[in-house]
Amino acid sequence: MTTILFENPIFLEHKVPEGHPERPDRLKALNLALEHERFSPLSRLEAPQGNEDLVLLAHPEQHLRTVMSAIPEEGINAVEADTYASPASLQAALTGIGGAVAAVDAVFSGKADNVFVASRPPGHHAEKNKAMGFCFFNNIAIAARHAQQRHGVERVAIVDWDVHHGNGTQDIFWDDPSVLFCSTHQMPLYPGSGAKTETGAGNIVNAPLSPDTGSEHFREAFKSRVLTALDDFRPDFILISAGFDAHHRDPLAQINLTAEDFDWATGRLLDVAGKTANNRIVSLLEGGYDLQGLAESAATHIYRLMRG
Ligand SMILES: [Zn+2]
Repeated sequence: MTTILFENPIFLEHKVPEGHPERPDRLKALNLALEHERFSPLSRLEAPQGNEDLVLLAHPEQHLRTVMSAIPEEGINAVEADTYASPASLQAALTGIGGAVAAVDAVFSGKADNVFVASRPPGHHAEKNKAMGFCFFNNIAIAARHAQQRHGVERVAIVDWDVHHGNGTQDIFWDDPSVLFCSTHQMPLYPGSGAKTETGAGNIVNAPLSPDTGSEHFREAFKSRVLTALDDFRPDFILISAGFDAHHRDPLAQINLTAEDFDWATGRLLDVAGKTANNRIVSLLEGGYDLQGLAESAATHIYRLMRG
């Protein structure tokens, strides 16, 4: 497999208040893990900054204006309850989008089989009209729409294994059967949505996990809900909302996965992509707030993408 990793130093310039879990150190920890020699074949490229028009693939113009008006000239500003912006946050968020879109272009041009985008801020909580949960714009939704509009992709599957429900992605694709959204997440937990009964146009598949469960429960739910839905849907392209906060060390949730579980789940999605999507997978970093748990899990995920 040819794997590209998109990164950019601007992602470290999105500042948050002291003690906030979604902090620049997350990417520094991942970078350290990627120094291992097994990552030497990985093609590491600078994510380009996306333009503001890309935001409009998933959000109304009013949302873009609201976010832009919340960016401070200096210091740190609260955008909503737990989402903060610093002067470089808009540029960081637009570069996250630019990286996601460049990742889609790379797999459809044949430059790569799969791509991981190591960006922050994350995106899956951003609804059509609302920044929330550390997220400004929904990177993965924008990537899915770009794949459809630029590359004529008919069926896009988004698999979200972040421990929090991807309410924003679900909101954006609620009535769009061309996009399958599958999510495993702890329930109850922030943001509160993600019940099995939330099915949209039949394209939403939620697999809630009870607190204090681990590998066995996760793998059973992934097989019976997510993989079954993917088999039926036969995606042309797979996007992963890759949060690593279901790791047992994570401070924000109570699911007890290990890096091995992310290796396993990545392998299963590679199998599906090999069958129906010409191997095409783009994976975007979402959450993961224990530095060691995040770095080990994300590095394991990337190494699995490289091996196919
Ligand atoms: Zn999360």
